[in-house]
Amino acid sequence: MQIKLAGYNIDTKLIEKLGKDVSATPEVISAAYARISRSSKSVTELRSIAANDVEKARNSNWEIVFEMGHASVAEHAVFNFDIIGISRYLAEFIQRSRLASFTEKSQRYVTLDGDFVLPAEIEGSRYKDDFANLMQNAFALYSNLFEDLKLQKASECEWNSKRELEGAAKEDARYVLPLCTRTQMGMTINARSLELLLRRLATLPLKEAQELHQLLYGEVSKVAPSIVRFVQADDFITRTLPSQLAIKSIPSTINEVKLVDFTFHADAHILSGLLFEQQGGSYPDILKQVKAMGNKQQKALWQDFFEGIKPWHKMPRAFELADFVFELTMSASCYAQFKRHRLCTILKAPYNAKDGFVIPPSIQKPAQVKAIKALLSSAESLATKVSKGNPMLYPYLLTNAHRVRILAKMNLRELYHFSRLRSDSHAQWEIQQLSNQLIPIVQKRCPNAAQWLMGKSDFPVDI
Ligand SMILES: Cc1cc2nc3c(=O)[nH]c(=O)nc-3n(C[C@H](O)[C@H](O)[C@H](O)COP(=O)(O)OP(=O)(O)OC[C@H]3O[C@@H](n4cnc5c(N)ncnc54)[C@H](O)[C@@H]3O)c2cc1C
Repeated sequence: MQIKLAGYNIDTKLIEKLGKDVSATPEVISAAYARISRSSKSVTELRSIAANDVEKARNSNWEIVFEMGHASVAEHAVFNFDIIGISRYLAEFIQRSRLASFTEKSQRYVTLDGDFVLPAEIEGSRYKDDFANLMQNAFALYSNLFEDLKLQKASECEWNSKRELEGAAKEDARYVLPLCTRTQMGMTINARSLELLLRRLATLPLKEAQELHQLLYGEVSKVAPSIVRFVQADDFITRTLPSQLAIKSIPSTINEVKLVDFTFHADAHILSGLLFEQQGGSYPDILKQVKAMGNKQQKALWQDFFEGIKPWHKMPRAFELADFVFELTMSASCYAQFKRHRLCTILKAPYNAKDGFVIPPSIQKPAQVKAIKALLSSAESLATKVSKGNPMLYPYLLTNAHRVRILAKMNLRELYHFSRLRSDSHAQWEIQQLSNQLIPIVQKRCPNAAQWLMGKSDFPVDI
């Protein structure tokens, strides 16, 4: 056996030190790996051949990735981007990329001071002053709430540190921040996912998205022109964007948490999947056998399976055989966390002020509630005016408190991961409440397989 560390991501400042003579590009890794299947040479040799003739490596990438359609070789080229000064609203689109990694500035740990993106469409419109006033009011209310919640929370219990107390105050004060609040994130993404992200950004009718598209493509096309190529707007993508053509007459009951579909006999399917993986045989036959077992025998098998479970154990893939589809309504603040669970299927309805808003339970003083409602109301009315002609502008002006409807398909494996993190006692209260609501719904449909759905902090201490 031989292992060679073929590459890793390092700071561009170090790469620049290599000088202009060296073509430092991840394209050579893609090109070398693409040739593995057709060459008798060692991978290491293929890599040095590609590095010695970058032009040839680029041509080979072009041919293999785009002409032959062996697109997965582009995944071997990975990029890190510092994305600075975009709106929280645009961050939602970027983080739709499933096969990518993100770490974003947390509104829980950072205090924000009038830091927002002024969308170019609004800058050039008659609503510019109204927008400025709204931002001033929103950030002033955020500061007041933050100071007030700090005092209130300090009097409620002992805190380990000032930072922890301030974090708790910010966590609730942030509900009044608009979705155009500025944020920054680190993004790690491979060339194939980046190409799709660029096409999505190019298609979004938002100037901020167009600018980001240009900047990202400008950077990547300098170092890896051969593997990120089809980046133009794609009309097909527009079919997932908020549309003026929505059917207006659909009744709109608000479902905070509603199970809309699920896998029947989930326990039996998962147990059969586990048995299939352990002993082979025909899956339908195993399933038939499992369904014919008595409750006692099934329970005994489950007990054996879960014996010695620890909070960090990941459920095996057989748990993906059971799906649960939920309709959920949550604040934009909660959605910011929920959407980060990349492997779930998450569909988001367009923001609509009619879906209501969430005021954190810690905010009880009538004057504060009144001030929040007044702010939300003026945000909604300006959002409606500003977005006439372009519904995509509407959410910029809404706030973290505004609710959004989500359709989420989660398999039991994902639900285990989600509940470990989100039903944990350290999780933010709204997503914790949501996770705590999902658990009994799922446990009712598969009491055996879902019996250990719980937050890390809920694990029995002797386990
Ligand atoms: C206490 C806490 C604080 C947080 N603070 C911040 C913060 O300040 N800023 C911030 O941006 N986010 C923060 N997050 C969000 C966090 O970074 C994750 O994005 C979120 O919890 C989703 O979980 P996940 O990435 O484990 O799994 P999911 O996306 O739900 O994926 C499920 C599992 O699939 C696997 N997986 C998925 N994708 C990959 C991949 N690319 N590589 C390897 N394995 C993968 C992993 O095993 C993962 O556990 C915080 C989360 C928690 C719980």
